Amino acid sequence: MTFSDLGLLPIFTDKCEQLGYTEPTPIQKQAIPIVLQGGDIIACAETGTGKTAAFLLPILQQLSATNKNKPGTKVLILSPTRELANQTEAACKQFEPKGITCTAIIGGAGYKRQIDSLKRGANIIIATPGRLMDFMEQGMIDFRGLTHLVLDEADRMLDMGFLPSIKRIVKAIPANRQTLFFSATMSAEIEHIAYAMLKDPTVIEVSPRGKAAGLIEQTAYPVAQQFKMPLLLDLLDKEDFDRVLVFTRTKRGADRLAHVLEKRSHKSNRIHGDRSQSQREAALRSFKSGHTNVLVATDVAARGIDIDSVSHVINYDIPEAPEDYVHRIGRTGRAGNKGKAITLFTIAEEHSMRSIERLTGERVERVLLPDFGGHSAPTAAPGKKLGSPARKTFRSFGPRRGR
Ligand code: AMP
Repeated sequence: MTFSDLGLLPIFTDKCEQLGYTEPTPIQKQAIPIVLQGGDIIACAETGTGKTAAFLLPILQQLSATNKNKPGTKVLILSPTRELANQTEAACKQFEPKGITCTAIIGGAGYKRQIDSLKRGANIIIATPGRLMDFMEQGMIDFRGLTHLVLDEADRMLDMGFLPSIKRIVKAIPANRQTLFFSATMSAEIEHIAYAMLKDPTVIEVSPRGKAAGLIEQTAYPVAQQFKMPLLLDLLDKEDFDRVLVFTRTKRGADRLAHVLEKRSHKSNRIHGDRSQSQREAALRSFKSGHTNVLVATDVAARGIDIDSVSHVINYDIPEAPEDYVHRIGRTGRAGNKGKAITLFTIAEEHSMRSIERLTGERVERVLLPDFGGHSAPTAAPGKKLGSPARKTFRSFGPRRGR
């Protein structure tokens, strides 16, 4: 099946070809024809499945038929994070729709450029809820001509407490519109909200609920808390990686870890909620360009990172919510590439590991390393010296990994 079979016009199919999209992804195959016909959708699709193009391409085609060179907001795309909004704006610009303008309205960035683009009547607004509400309250956005609403990563928006803002935004836009709802995971609460906002939607599910992406090799290391750092350093030494994303649960944890990595001469950086927008963007840029190859991140900050060649995701701290595991490891194994996800967890967190396995329906292979305080020999750990001996120990247990 080709993009043109889905109903896309040559200006868009040519662009797909230029971008190296040889074939539509499953979400694109299912969503594009419905969106082109004006239908609402609820799509359960993770980041990395090609979902952005699945909504952008048909919307741009509809706009280019009706809206050429006319100012005024037609499309609102709501994103949970600034990074995701920036990426969606970049994707929109990539398709270069002539005579159609788009802008990102996000917090942590200067007001002037955003106000100017609103005054010029940007056709597509890609926004995080906070800054958008700010502009709405100042009466700076005219939604009367709006025809499309996209909620991207809706599950994350709810996790981040955006539901009240979303309800207010939805109240302020025309009821007669097309609505596209994307979420990596679906819960009863999310479905309830979706059905309240959509009209007779088609439900599209490209991967089973909460299922981890198929191209990702997953392993988990039971490890005592005090051995996590030497184990991580060992893994970084041993694994053949291009780019590693390391997740910590807290901002302070991310800072501490990044500090140790810097001391060990790893080309690393960090992103979390206490870093300024420009610091986060600089960290992402250097990670994308390969200037750094280890990025330490918290869940919220990492949301929406779209970098194709993240070869490894390491969960230094196991995520609090099992759904976050799916989001985290979805940063690797993207666009047909293979990826590895490695999770470190303590004995006390075994139940969290099991919750993840229940959600994804997949068993994650355990790698037992007794000298790192693994489950198999919890008494082996106390008194063991950290640092270089750890590496030796790790290697000596290599054959037990049984992949
Ligand atoms: P997304 O799920 O929208 O975050 O997309 C993940 C990545 O897949 C992006 O880098 C896209 O450029 C890429 N992509 C989207 N559609 C296709 C396709 N049909 N073939 C190959 N890559 C794609």
